[in-house]
Amino acid sequence: MPIKNRFAEMHSDITAWRRHLHAHPELMFDVHETAKFVEDKLRSFGVDEITTGIGKTGVVGVIKGRGTSDRVIGLRADMDALPIIEATGLDYASTVPGKMHACGHDGHTAMLLGAAQYLAETRNFDGTVVLIFQPAEEGGGGGREMVKDGLMDRWNIQEVYGMHNMPGFPTGTFAIRPGPLLASADEFTIRVVGKGGHAANPHEAIDPNLAAAHVIVALQSIASRNANPLSSVVVTVGALHSDSHVSNVIPQATTMKGTVRALDEDVRAMAQKRVQDIATATAQAYGCVAEVDYVVGYPVTVNAAENTEYAIAAARAVAGDVAENIPPVMAAEDFAFMLNARPGAYILVGNGDGAMVHHPEYNFDDEAIPAGCSWFAEIVEQRLRA
Ligand SMILES: [Zn+2]
Ligand SMILES: [Zn+2]
Repeated sequence: MPIKNRFAEMHSDITAWRRHLHAHPELMFDVHETAKFVEDKLRSFGVDEITTGIGKTGVVGVIKGRGTSDRVIGLRADMDALPIIEATGLDYASTVPGKMHACGHDGHTAMLLGAAQYLAETRNFDGTVVLIFQPAEEGGGGGREMVKDGLMDRWNIQEVYGMHNMPGFPTGTFAIRPGPLLASADEFTIRVVGKGGHAANPHEAIDPNLAAAHVIVALQSIASRNANPLSSVVVTVGALHSDSHVSNVIPQATTMKGTVRALDEDVRAMAQKRVQDIATATAQAYGCVAEVDYVVGYPVTVNAAENTEYAIAAARAVAGDVAENIPPVMAAEDFAFMLNARPGAYILVGNGDGAMVHHPEYNFDDEAIPAGCSWFAEIVEQRLRA
């Protein structure tokens, strides 16, 4: 069975919602207008229950099927945008300077709303669907906050599914893998403190720049020497700032900021310890002191094997062929918190050729809407077969 016909009829409506959301982006937990839009739409569809303010500004909707089954599945979309200046030139481009739906969460929210309307109309399933609209995917941990607020227990969710668009795959096609699909993402700040002085008299100073340079080089031994060559870990120092801005001063201190990503929680924990040890000992070797601030972020996004099969079966029903075993990606996603709480799967829907997510020229492809909506609906109808 291909795209559900109802979504072909609804395509222009859902596109209009998507473009409205695109024009009115909101950041992090501050998604009040978006959450209100979602709430109003769900109410107009006649869903059975709506709860707002879960995980600060998340929205939860409930649709009951026809039978008496107590099976419950969760479907999740993210609502937040990014602090990027939009450069698409679209007639429905962001109306808010410096904020942009550059990750396609406008599309995800619109597609889950479309699926909600269809499921509320047809109720061709036996059990309960919980619609999850989360804030703050882009770094705020909105998914974590919703889980902390009791999302899974309060609504008795037994399995949970999410979707993200992906440029580079043909529009409306599906791609997935069992096991780790996306990496963990942690952040560190290392301040290497020495003793400032005249650049001509290094023997009277303690140069934190030299120590910091050795720290950066040594951090690369985590991937090359500490991790099993067959596992994956990335340590990137993205920022490096000396307290001196001139050539003839040895600064008092130098600060670096970096990210650590892994596809395995043990490797992740190992890397955290090594960052701490390498920074401390290397700085000390050069007479400096390293102050390490390590912030544990999103976990590895792990697709449960069985639920990946269910996600593939639904995708096949919608699109035919599915890319079933794509390589993992070292980006991160806070749907990981939901997958840590319940088994489930996260699938990618193709967004065609065009700019990558987080690029100022990126745009969600509205032609992916019927496929995305159909997948959400299909997984419900397959997993909660009436
Ligand atoms: Zn993003
Ligand atoms: Zn995203």
